[in-house]
Amino acid sequence: MADLRRIAFLLERANEATYRVRAFRSAAATIAKTPADELAERAGAGTLAKLAGVGEVTARCVTESLAGEEPVYLRRLAGTEGTDLPAAAAALRAALRGDCHVHSDWSDGGSPIEEMALAAADLGHEWFVLTDHSPKLTVARGLTADRLRRQLDHVARLNEALPAGFRILTGIEVDILADGRLDQEDELLARLDLVVGSVHSGLRDDAARMTRRMVTAIANPHLDVLGHMTGRKVTAAGAGDAAHSKTRTRPPSDFDLAKVLAACVEHDKAVEINSRPDRLDPPKRMLTVAVEAGCLFSVDTDAHAPGQLDWLDFGCERAALCGVPTERVINTWTAERLLKWTASHS
Ligand SMILES: [Zn+2]
Ligand SMILES: [Zn+2]
Repeated sequence: MADLRRIAFLLERANEATYRVRAFRSAAATIAKTPADELAERAGAGTLAKLAGVGEVTARCVTESLAGEEPVYLRRLAGTEGTDLPAAAAALRAALRGDCHVHSDWSDGGSPIEEMALAAADLGHEWFVLTDHSPKLTVARGLTADRLRRQLDHVARLNEALPAGFRILTGIEVDILADGRLDQEDELLARLDLVVGSVHSGLRDDAARMTRRMVTAIANPHLDVLGHMTGRKVTAAGAGDAAHSKTRTRPPSDFDLAKVLAACVEHDKAVEINSRPDRLDPPKRMLTVAVEAGCLFSVDTDAHAPGQLDWLDFGCERAALCGVPTERVINTWTAERLLKWTASHS
């Protein structure tokens, strides 16, 4: 049921509580399985809410949809959508073809890969990189080598069935370990289309240690994008980000910014502009320094639900404010160009 999915999308976009979003997604799944004549009959008799997973609010939405009206609940949500982006940010947003940082329910995301892909295709994306977590991040159900191998087979099958003009690229958000090594087998990292590397532990390491750790990871030929570089949290995490503390804000970690950025330039790696409203990482002052240093960038959502794929606006706004040139943003590239770039690292 398209209207219910749209409602769930808008709620996720607004970073609403997971349970409320789930109500609409599970109702949509039930409705999709129910024959059309039964739905019409139940809508007439007022018994839609007797279906498993369908509550009073969703039942009202379905009744309105079946009558050919836009559900009131949807109209109200859609009304809060889309504050206008400044022109430079809008131009960058329009130039983006994909997203290099996306999670699914294989790790701590809330939705199946296919749902994420269909939502991305609807947004006009040509591709995204699926980047579920690595084994050490057990709190986020990080994928063991075996599970990642199974995911690669699964993605290959999904890609055959997806709408023409959209494809899932394979990837990982791999933990940068305390000594700078990456938390997955080399053979697997080499097989993936793109690797995002992030620090998720020991965030309070002293500056010398953290700098060594990050520079070692950036120099690793498997790493392509440095994820949320400071690890800061500006608000408590929203729906479905189990990898990170849900209740507390967190200051940026301490490292030698010039050295880290110089390593990115030297090894031709991209600095992520993480669009999550609870992260907005790196901070603008650091982003400005990275522009001056000559870095490449990736404006990513780090989406854990379909509606969060639309958070690119937040990253674009910050990129534009800090003067990030469009030609240095790797997700303005076609999948072919992106793959050529990642292949050049190993
Ligand atoms: Zn992360
Ligand atoms: Zn992530």
